Amino acid sequence: MSADRFDAKAHAEKFGQAEGEGIIRCDACPVLCRIRPGRAGACSRYANEGGRLVRTDPAVALARTLDAGGRAVAFAEGEWDGRLLDPARVFVTGIGAGTTYPDYKPAPFIVGAQHAGVDTVTVVTEGMFSYCGVKVKIDTDRHLGPEAAAVRAQGEQVGHVTTAEYGSQMLSLGGVRHLTGGSKREGVVTCETLLALSNGAAVELTIDGGHAVIVQAGQPPIVDGTPERRMRVGCGSATVGIFAQQWLGEADEVIVVDDHITGVLSEHQAGKVLGMRPSGIRVRGRRSTPGRYFQVAAPGLGWGGTDITDPLAIIERIDPKLAWPGLRLLLTSTTGEDALWCVLDEQLRPIPAGMPAKVRAVVDRIGENCEPSLCTVLFMAGAGGSLRAGVTGNPVLLTRSVAAGETRVTMGGAPCYVWPGGGITVMTDVLRLPRNAFGHVPTPALVAPIEFTLPRALYERLGGHMAEILPLETLIAGLGGQMRIEGWQPDNPWPFPRR
Ligand code: SF4
Repeated sequence: MSADRFDAKAHAEKFGQAEGEGIIRCDACPVLCRIRPGRAGACSRYANEGGRLVRTDPAVALARTLDAGGRAVAFAEGEWDGRLLDPARVFVTGIGAGTTYPDYKPAPFIVGAQHAGVDTVTVVTEGMFSYCGVKVKIDTDRHLGPEAAAVRAQGEQVGHVTTAEYGSQMLSLGGVRHLTGGSKREGVVTCETLLALSNGAAVELTIDGGHAVIVQAGQPPIVDGTPERRMRVGCGSATVGIFAQQWLGEADEVIVVDDHITGVLSEHQAGKVLGMRPSGIRVRGRRSTPGRYFQVAAPGLGWGGTDITDPLAIIERIDPKLAWPGLRLLLTSTTGEDALWCVLDEQLRPIPAGMPAKVRAVVDRIGENCEPSLCTVLFMAGAGGSLRAGVTGNPVLLTRSVAAGETRVTMGGAPCYVWPGGGITVMTDVLRLPRNAFGHVPTPALVAPIEFTLPRALYERLGGHMAEILPLETLIAGLGGQMRIEGWQPDNPWPFPRR
């Protein structure tokens, strides 16, 4: 069973109802705007166009095309009349599809198509997510703020600092508590912040007890006005391990300053294995294992994510029984951006000196091995609620099918990581969606495209809305100019079987 034509009137009625005097009540979210002719609703996503409720943005489909070499290439943006491309290379996204709230109504588009000889269905909608947020990974060693500290935008708390990962600081922003559990302004600012970050815009955040950072997906973080350039090559101990061989014979001691694990070469296992003579230089902090020190200083914006600007300050003592005049000492950060060469004088005091070329070359190699610092923004949301009723009359079957990997979930065509366990908790990299794929409603909640793709026979078994399936060609012909076609991101996996 499936529909044989696109009924524009019935489609518009999925989103709203006429109320007389040309006014239409938009049903696409609980705000229930009453929209006069020629006006748009509170979210600007729907408008009353001559007595018909329309989505103000076009629906977006993505086309996979091949160049002469058989490689996927982007398809030029523009309107498409449905005849220019093989339907088997087209994917209809939830972007601009609209939301059929409350979700007992079938999703806006339930698209049927054949792929590699398999009848498939893609259920397409724009989900409204109160349970959503972004996880932000900021590639920097600099101390942005204490773990669990409040992260603010426009003065409102929108999230918190979470764990420091290897060379990166993580932030957790949004979530239902900030969207709905605080003041109205907190919810509005949280929604604005999530929307901007998800759409690839820059947002300035401040961290209580820490610093200001400008975050933008795919761009370097800017910490207190300074763009971060390099992600560290590793922790201080790892840096010692990586470069120990190259320092052998060129330096008598190397200290790699790092807020997490400062490495001291001659004492480290790497120096031991290479047969290095103990230097007698003891750094501050708590010794974890030989040559690996925690808490050599307070966290900060200085060397290696510490508050140190004078690296000699981390030397606690120099043992005269072990050290010797003329001992050659290198101090470096984990990115090689900060480095100091010293030689011990007769009183065993480290005296700064010109760095030998061979040592400089190794410091430069640290820098060469650092990857560019970037911000990564992953959108995370719970799609296990009423949205499922727009897909099937028996929602738990959809949940199980997604968990089993039979039904593929995408957001604007981007692959999603589906968290194991209950519900449909998904996470996706915002840079893998077309730009400006996200919207919002004033409840407040984020609106995000979501698609469920599965074989037609399975869709029927799940209790899907079979009568609503519309062949792709019919849908496109019916939508006409209300559909825009963009190029498929070649690094995204194609959600269908290939042919
Ligand atoms: S806020 Fe937007 S989606 Fe919600 S009722 Fe108004 S126009 Fe419709």
